[in-house]
Amino acid sequence: DQLISQIAAGEVVERPASVVKELVENAIDAGAGRIEVRIEGGGLRRIAVSDNGCGIPKEELPLALRRHATSKIHSLLELESVASLGFRGEALASIASIAGLVLTSRVPGADHAWSIGPEGVQPASGETGTRVEVTDLFFKTPARRKFLKSEATETAHCLREFEHAALSHPGVEMRFFANGRAVSVLPAQSARERANAILPHDFAQASREVFAESEGLKVSGWAGLPTAARSRSDAQYFFVNGRCIRDRMLLHALRQGYSDVLYNGAQPSFCLFLEVDPSQVDVNVHPTKNEVRFRESQRVHQFVFHAVEAALAPAMS
Ligand code: ADP
Ligand code: MG
Repeated sequence: DQLISQIAAGEVVERPASVVKELVENAIDAGAGRIEVRIEGGGLRRIAVSDNGCGIPKEELPLALRRHATSKIHSLLELESVASLGFRGEALASIASIAGLVLTSRVPGADHAWSIGPEGVQPASGETGTRVEVTDLFFKTPARRKFLKSEATETAHCLREFEHAALSHPGVEMRFFANGRAVSVLPAQSARERANAILPHDFAQASREVFAESEGLKVSGWAGLPTAARSRSDAQYFFVNGRCIRDRMLLHALRQGYSDVLYNGAQPSFCLFLEVDPSQVDVNVHPTKNEVRFRESQRVHQFVFHAVEAALAPAMS
């Protein structure tokens, strides 16, 4: 069982940033109004995520670390399908199989917190909410460790996952620390303020609001004007139903919407939130690659193209 957990974890925990993503998503699911991420050594030495969400009752702590799908795996052949389900009910279990993990939680009304770790369930100190501490990631799977990049690169990937969550949850107060240094401190704010805080400076100064709605489709957000287009090329965020994705079709639609205002080869900054009827999109193509498949791809393309074009049109006059 431990081995299967490790193999499954290897499929989904590519790098420390994968852990940051899962833990922050859990905190958001718990209704947290405040989330703090602390990483050390690019996340390899330590990742700690704490929140002020609903917490986990003492009796449920062991359950939170258990792999839900255990009884469903009968052969190695099935592993592939398990991996494709991603972390449904197995993020904490998978992470615990390849790292040290201590889960501390306190529910409203409880006298104190409880933690679960290698020594079992024990009383602990802590405010209402949950804290997950992951140490020595991949120390049991050194092969994986070899593929990781420098500490600076892993830190940047962790920060990027943090920023994705921050952009799609502007009402949540969020902080990110690396080696004890505050890298990103975000108060609860509006979507626009949050985008301004995370995207490059020129984006805040020169961007157009994008908004369009059509049957089962809605897009909102901001498209940077050509001044912003010359800045960081990685300041490009597309969210589909709250999940940050990279999609060739959407990028193509966007560039087409920009075609009249974009300098040759320039990379526009943008932050767009696309909402699609869940029955019209498959977001589970792969748990880590952030891909989606649209049922009516061409319609989505036209929709995004026209929305961006309309938003940028006044820039021409
Ligand atoms: P999943 O999120 O898919 O349910 P996880 O392994 O990520 O699976 O988490 C297992 C369970 O632990 C969750 O379903 C939830 O009940 C509980 N849990 C994890 N993190 C938190 C948190 N930050 N706050 C409250 N409950 C949590
Ligand atoms: Mg989860």
